[in-house]
Amino acid sequence: FEVVGAPIFDDRNMLKGAVLVLYDITELKKLEAMRKDFVANVSHELKTPITSIRGFSETLLDDDLHDKETARHFLGIINEESKRLQTLIEDLLALSKLEKEDSRLVFTSINMSQLLEEVIPMMNQQATQSGIKLKVEAERDLTFVADMNGVKQVLINLLANAINYSHKEDEVSLTVGKQNDFIHITITDTGIGIPNEALSRIFERFYRVDKARSRNTGGTGLGLAIVKHIVELHKGKIHVESELEIGTTFHIYFPIQ
Ligand code: ADP
Repeated sequence: FEVVGAPIFDDRNMLKGAVLVLYDITELKKLEAMRKDFVANVSHELKTPITSIRGFSETLLDDDLHDKETARHFLGIINEESKRLQTLIEDLLALSKLEKEDSRLVFTSINMSQLLEEVIPMMNQQATQSGIKLKVEAERDLTFVADMNGVKQVLINLLANAINYSHKEDEVSLTVGKQNDFIHITITDTGIGIPNEALSRIFERFYRVDKARSRNTGGTGLGLAIVKHIVELHKGKIHVESELEIGTTFHIYFPIQ
């Protein structure tokens, strides 16, 4: 609590009492702690690739570069780590744009068939590279009012996760249909699953169940935070069901109007 007080005087200027106001600053403190956490997380996430880039480039500079194979290997790491930095910065910018009070989405009438045309080929390629089959069951003649880039981002992030957290030869499926006044989208995988106690935390910025795995698949820990923001800006809903080693399903509902 924060306390603010003031004395009260009577007509003859004698002290009569005092007013004390107690402000409950729990929320404020919580926000402040979250902000500090966020800055610490961002710094840490930026530091890891930069340390690696510096280390390997300094080794290359000190070396006489006779061993071409090692040099190529180091350059490969430097390249990967700079890509990671770029993705991280892009995700941070996307998130900060979405969090602005006046963040403006461009709502237009979206045709499901066109939306899938812009997402599926790219994600199919990603799935194939990981040895995973992508199955799509969609009502393609649906239309709804939404921000095209936002909805695309939601599908891409959820499908990429489904692929990344699956085993080779697993199947990822996407279904699209209509449920009352909503477009209902599900993304199901038969991958590693999410432990119960982590389910409520996966939408937090930088939360990961398994840091090493997320890092290996190029994850920034921001994907689901971005997804949740976009869905909420559409006044939609998202929820997740998961069982360890059985798989995960994300349900998303976008209002049609
Ligand atoms: P990341 O970049 O680490 O994938 P996300 O915000 O997209 O970050 O996801 C947060 C965490 O939730 C992931 O690190 C992972 O542990 C877990 N997760 C997300 N999607 C799935 C999924 N389909 N199967 C299993 N775990 C998942």
